[in-house]
Amino acid sequence: MRVNQALEDGDEQTLDIAIVGGGATGVELAAELVHSVSLLNIYGLTHLTRERLKVSLVEAGPRLLPALPEGLAHRVKQKLESLGVNVITGNPAVKAGSDGLTLKNDAHIDANLMVWAAGIRAPDFLASLGLAHRKNNQLLVNEYLQSTDDPSVYALGDCAACAIDDDRFVPPRAQSAHQMAACLATNIQRELKGRAAKPFKYKDRGSLVSLSRFSAVGNLMQSKSLSMSIEGTLARYAYASLYRMHQRALHGWWKMLLIITVDKLNHAVKPRLKLH
Ligand SMILES: Cc1cc2nc3c(=O)[nH]c(=O)nc-3n(C[C@H](O)[C@H](O)[C@H](O)COP(=O)(O)OP(=O)(O)OC[C@H]3O[C@@H](n4cnc5c(N)ncnc54)[C@H](O)[C@@H]3O)c2cc1C
Repeated sequence: MRVNQALEDGDEQTLDIAIVGGGATGVELAAELVHSVSLLNIYGLTHLTRERLKVSLVEAGPRLLPALPEGLAHRVKQKLESLGVNVITGNPAVKAGSDGLTLKNDAHIDANLMVWAAGIRAPDFLASLGLAHRKNNQLLVNEYLQSTDDPSVYALGDCAACAIDDDRFVPPRAQSAHQMAACLATNIQRELKGRAAKPFKYKDRGSLVSLSRFSAVGNLMQSKSLSMSIEGTLARYAYASLYRMHQRALHGWWKMLLIITVDKLNHAVKPRLKLH
């Protein structure tokens, strides 16, 4: 709104936003920001155009979306670039200053607003419990989701670091948290009955990434050897239905249907964008 007002007053400005991290969160945010310009226009903020919004997406690795197949990631990059997003790969951000980011190759990215979307960090108090943890405060757990230091302490979801193999941990995703919760619930019941616990095995069911109203991409995985890449309208429907499946898992069928009805009503009466 500030930039829109400045532009209205004749002050030539751009809104420069830099996002660090080209994973799903960074990619989705970049697309949503571009879309938000059209929504702002609905509210009469017509001076901030897409040309005035400069979104840069900085990724340290060689490509966006490392969890998705390379072809899909390439098309996402092309789509974002066609929307005017400046996509930078293979060049990590090393410093954030008041006027923007400095990259490893000393390039400077102008930014009034910088967003960190490169990895998660568990709350600080977890590091003070005296239990083994990673640098990002995640508690190290064994295959039964017990702290490696104290088997009476369980951790699951984003706050747990559960190894898949020597190099990788279970990724911090909703599907991981869901699978861990199901495993732990079963194991607690088994323990109460004096039966042996079953080890947790992460099954990657794939990922879906929304590019706002512009598109969506993803891969659905049945197993490591059986996966299907999807994009466009089909992926957008899959993304929307996945969200509803999470709601069904949390609330059950009836409440999920009620939430869908309320969402539809809200869509008709509520503002598309929260302006305060
Ligand atoms: C922007 C964004 C987009 C994402 N998109 C996807 C996606 O598309 N697909 C996907 O699979 N995953 C996605 N994720 C990741 C997914 O949301 C998480 O992996 C998942 O929510 C982890 O579940 P959790 O229960 O471990 O943690 P959370 O869902 O974070 O739940 C933890 C809860 O604990 C509460 N809490 C924290 N500290 C305390 C405390 N001291 N006392 C009491 N309560 C506390 C928090 O308020 C929170 O409600 C996304 C994450 C983000 C941030």
